[in-house]
Amino acid sequence: MSPAPAPAPGGETYDVVVAGGGPAGCAAALTLARAGRTVLLADAGTGPPKVGETLVPAGRVLLGDLGVADRVLRSGHLPCYGNLSAWGSADLHAVDFINDPHGHGWHLDRLLFDRRLRDASRAAGAEVAEGTAVRGAARQPDRGWTLALRGGTGPADTGAGGERTVRCRWVIDATGRAAAIAVRCGARRRVRDRLTALHAPLEADPRDTDRCSLIESDEDGWWYTAPQPSGGRLVAYFTDTDLPAAPYTARHFRRRMLATRHVSRWARRHGPTPSAAPRRAAAHTAHLNRVYGDGWTAAGDAAVAFDPLSSQGVLTALYTGMNAGRAVDARLSRVNDGEDSALAAYAHQVAAARTAYLRGHRLIHAQEARWIHRSFWARRLADLPDSSF
Ligand SMILES: Cc1cc2nc3c(=O)[nH]c(=O)nc-3n(C[C@H](O)[C@H](O)[C@H](O)COP(=O)(O)OP(=O)(O)OC[C@H]3O[C@@H](n4cnc5c(N)ncnc54)[C@H](O)[C@@H]3O)c2cc1C
Repeated sequence: MSPAPAPAPGGETYDVVVAGGGPAGCAAALTLARAGRTVLLADAGTGPPKVGETLVPAGRVLLGDLGVADRVLRSGHLPCYGNLSAWGSADLHAVDFINDPHGHGWHLDRLLFDRRLRDASRAAGAEVAEGTAVRGAARQPDRGWTLALRGGTGPADTGAGGERTVRCRWVIDATGRAAAIAVRCGARRRVRDRLTALHAPLEADPRDTDRCSLIESDEDGWWYTAPQPSGGRLVAYFTDTDLPAAPYTARHFRRRMLATRHVSRWARRHGPTPSAAPRRAAAHTAHLNRVYGDGWTAAGDAAVAFDPLSSQGVLTALYTGMNAGRAVDARLSRVNDGEDSALAAYAHQVAAARTAYLRGHRLIHAQEARWIHRSFWARRLADLPDSSF
């Protein structure tokens, strides 16, 4: 076992610091803490609000593997009984989760979901620093890290707005699409497209008891609507940032939404349609050219980020977070510092997940042939060699 780095002046020392307290970071922290590692999970709590997200039924299996399924799913989310889609034709097709061996999915309250995952990490022995960003990371001659943390309010934190320095043997980058640590360590993000989400809430309507997600394509992208656990619904339009059709203003968004055949029904039923401009969120497909390096490993969206059409983002974050945690634990147990076989196996798992995603992504876009001459669809139908991604 390599020696633990000496404590920084005034700072603590951990086996692993996990940067990012979303599903990936929590799955990694849980796994490492249960393996007996000393773990600091630092979550900045920044970034766009995650609303209207659905966890696919298989999510229960991964949460079960992490030993937190009941704790995380017991209340606060809505069941998702299936998906409706008007894709490839104007008619609605239903995929009912009644046929899914894992049962129904969930319309998530992501704030609650993530908070419960962090609570579970804390209960497993990880130190959790909320509202705390990992700002700087310096590799030390003894092969440990010195990390600069900023923010935090809890006892384990820095004090409001404060800064502190900690040391660790390994860093897990679970900072989401920014991949803040990995990029700083020289990894490169490969971005495949310019997909963006423009989303707006619809007001609550007690008559709305529908518990399915709905997807509807149009000539420049696709629409999504789903009920929200807090009441009301979310409506989102997915298109490319550079297309003139992207409805960035409230008026344009409303006009396009009301021109749809199916989503417009919800918009009308829920009374006044959004008056504020829709919020934007990056939704492009991306991955890192390498998911581990000297003293660091990336997991979740930091490692590989999918088009939300796949509904695989949270599932993949849990999967890669758990497997990154296992690989780092194995790596830290090795007598020989040069042995990286567990990390190489982890990189293969991430690559396999990406390959399966890309295959599914091509197949599903090939099913929509009504607008093949429009840029949004032509771009997705072009058979890009994998090397270009
Ligand atoms: C519009 C849209 C809709 C989506 N819908 C779905 C869906 O329906 N179903 C689904 O499964 N997936 C969906 N996704 C994907 C899903 O949101 C992500 O895949 C998932 O959140 C990835 O989890 P993560 O833990 O890797 O990253 P995140 O959830 O992004 O968590 C990263 C965390 O790291 C923190 N952080 C950032 N920088 C630092 C730092 N320097 N130090 C410390 N902390 C830091 C952030 O504050 C954040 O809490 C959607 C994505 C988008 C954009």
